[in-house]
Amino acid sequence: VKIVGKEHFSSSSLFGASLYLSIFFSTVYLTILLSESRFDMSVPAWSIVMMGLMLVVIFLEIILPNVDYQGLGAQSEKTDVFYLVLIGGIYHKLVILLFGFIFIDLTVYLSTYYGIDNTWVHGWPVITQALIMLLVSDFARYWVHRAAHQNRFLWRFHAVHHSSEKLGWLATMRFHPVEKFYFMVPEMIPFIILGVGEEVLAVYFVMNGTNAMLQHANIRMNLGVLNWVFNLQEYHLWHHSKKIDESNSNYGINFIIWDIVFGTRFLPADREVSEIGLVDTDYPKKFLHQMIKPFK
Ligand SMILES: [Zn+2]
Repeated sequence: VKIVGKEHFSSSSLFGASLYLSIFFSTVYLTILLSESRFDMSVPAWSIVMMGLMLVVIFLEIILPNVDYQGLGAQSEKTDVFYLVLIGGIYHKLVILLFGFIFIDLTVYLSTYYGIDNTWVHGWPVITQALIMLLVSDFARYWVHRAAHQNRFLWRFHAVHHSSEKLGWLATMRFHPVEKFYFMVPEMIPFIILGVGEEVLAVYFVMNGTNAMLQHANIRMNLGVLNWVFNLQEYHLWHHSKKIDESNSNYGINFIIWDIVFGTRFLPADREVSEIGLVDTDYPKKFLHQMIKPFK
């Protein structure tokens, strides 16, 4: 991977960290603003914010590219459009609705009945609640992600995500639906049982979605000291390396904290990632073929 214009102003970590924090808090703030407006629309609020973010990210990929892929959208593949519409757009929302919003009344009732909901910090600010949820769910998903790389059966599904040979915002959507589903189990169930509110869930999804997109986007954004907290693109390029000893690292979804704790943080300062993708050069490239591949 050839990184462009290292001496460019956007290489400064002060610039990168400020850009990241302003994007992160703008999406969070907008979601809260929309959810608290006269319309009760906390569900579509995060969808609207995520669509807006998508446009911002596309714009930033054009003006601040990290890798020069030559040409607008050259890093994206046709396959990813199917993932964007079918997996990111429709399937993901349905699974969230299923987990988060359909069972919510039932679980609120059950958790109130058994007094479990008293353990959650309902009175704290929404942002704080969502950040706690993010950190805890990252712990669970750290282990699911790590298992997806080390267990042969789980890897079959996760390989789909690693089949991108260039990283850009669209690569965020490339997930097998089976994998997307089991990642949601540790992510949602504990919080539904604890009775986390809808607005907190909405802010959580926006935080998570913003980080996921910035992790894959082809934007020059060096985080500097924030790299000790967040696991974004600088780490994620290594996670997508073709070399297995390099890619078996940086498993955190939003934070790098669990990788530091469990010894899987990897960020060499002396070189760049050489190649992105899978070792298997015959891996199918078409959407439907990739859907079937894990079952073969
Ligand atoms: Zn992975």
